[in-house]
Order: sequence, then structure tokens, then C-alpha cells
Amino acid sequence: MASIFTKIINGDIPCYKIAETDKFFAFLDINPNAKGHTLCIPKAEVDKLFDLDDDTYLELMAFSKLVAAAIKKAVPCKRVGMTVIGLEVPHAHVHLIPLNSMEDARFLSKEKLSDAEFQDLAAAIRANL
Ligand code: 5GP
Repeated sequence: MASIFTKIINGDIPCYKIAETDKFFAFLDINPNAKGHTLCIPKAEVDKLFDLDDDTYLELMAFSKLVAAAIKKAVPCKRVGMTVIGLEVPHAHVHLIPLNSMEDARFLSKEKLSDAEFQDLAAAIRANL
């Protein structure tokens, strides 16, 4: 069965899209730690990041770096952090999280954003790519 992220890539589930290439996709996390929290994923449905083939792994890092630079320009923060967990969705993904404090990295307190806020964030990040 397709993962929830494959359904997002295919447009079967809506998302706030940030970027797409032939191999990768980036979109806002629906339950963000902080405004601008973005997920970068390979289109290939592989569960664990370190099971990706080397080329895809390195290309995903390069893709994530470009997206992180755009987040940094669009969202006020001290830095953009990168985290890999994968306990909830079995489709490899990199969390890019605008950090202002350690709290933003802890996946405990979450931002509640309106549809308009998600739309505006996605547009602002896309404009900096
Ligand atoms: P992890 O698998 O790394 O523990 O967490 C998966 C992340 O995916 C979570 O931060 C969660 O909010 C996000 N997520 C789960 N389902 C969806 C979804 O349908 N849309 C979006 N945009 N994010 C999702």
C-alpha cells in the first residue's frame, strides 16, 4: 500500500508544497514544531533514510540544503535544524525545522496554524528557492 507521503506526491492527499524535482519532494509538515517546519522526501518509497542507495541519499541531502536555505531566508529563526526520525511515517524523510530555541527541536509543543498561515509560509519559502 502506498505510504501517506506517496499519496501526497501523487496529489491524492493535499499538501502545502515547497519544491519538487524528478526524484524529490518538499512540503510543510502538517503538525509543525515551528512555523516553516518542512519535510524533504525521496519519491522512491523507502522506509529508512539509511537504506536509501548512496546516490539518492546524497542527492536528498543536497535537495534539503537548498530548501533549508530558502526556509532560513523566509522564516525568522536562529538556524534551520535537520532531524530524521521516521517513527510515524515509514517513508524516508528529513525534517527541516526553523530553530529559535531547543524547544523547537523537541517534537513536543506544536504550532497550530490556519490554512492561510500555511499558504503564506509555503509561498514565502518557495519565493526564496
Ligand atoms: P516521523 O515519522 O519522523 O516521526 O514524523 C512524521 C511527520 O510527518 C510528523 O511530523 C507529522 O506531523 C508529519 N505528517 C504525518 N502525516 C502527514 C500528512 O498527511 N501531511 C503532512 N504535511 N505531514 C504529515
